[in-house]
Amino acid sequence: MNRENKKRKYDKKYFRRHPCTDAFTCKECGWLVVTGGAGSRHRNHCPNCLYSVHLDNKPGDRSSECHGRMEPIGVGVRKNGEWAIIHRCKICGKISSNRVAADDNPMKLMALALRPFGSQTISHNDIKNMTITMEG
Ligand SMILES: [Zn+2]
Ligand SMILES: [Zn+2]
Repeated sequence: MNRENKKRKYDKKYFRRHPCTDAFTCKECGWLVVTGGAGSRHRNHCPNCLYSVHLDNKPGDRSSECHGRMEPIGVGVRKNGEWAIIHRCKICGKISSNRVAADDNPMKLMALALRPFGSQTISHNDIKNMTITMEG
């Protein structure tokens, strides 16, 4: 009986010390996104498909009520040499750029970088197929 009590206490403490409030499931591909491994505390997009969610009006404020999926439409390099993913919200069309995280899917980043910005020559499906082939 003592043993059981101890175990229960330990479990409760464990979950209190390890809150998973920052983890979320990607709306696009179902990937469980956790903050660890990103090399940054601001994990705002899925490392697997690079989709983000429209949560912020200003970076980090979490005050947007849109909550639309944000499609990665391109990759850019900031003035300081940092790579950023350009996201566009599928609901309201807001465009934002987010720092590339350490564990982002490099193949997806490559495909994005090769995609002509704003061009209609290559369709979304072609890009999807291309990345599937690259991953295979
Ligand atoms: Zn995803
Ligand atoms: Zn939006």
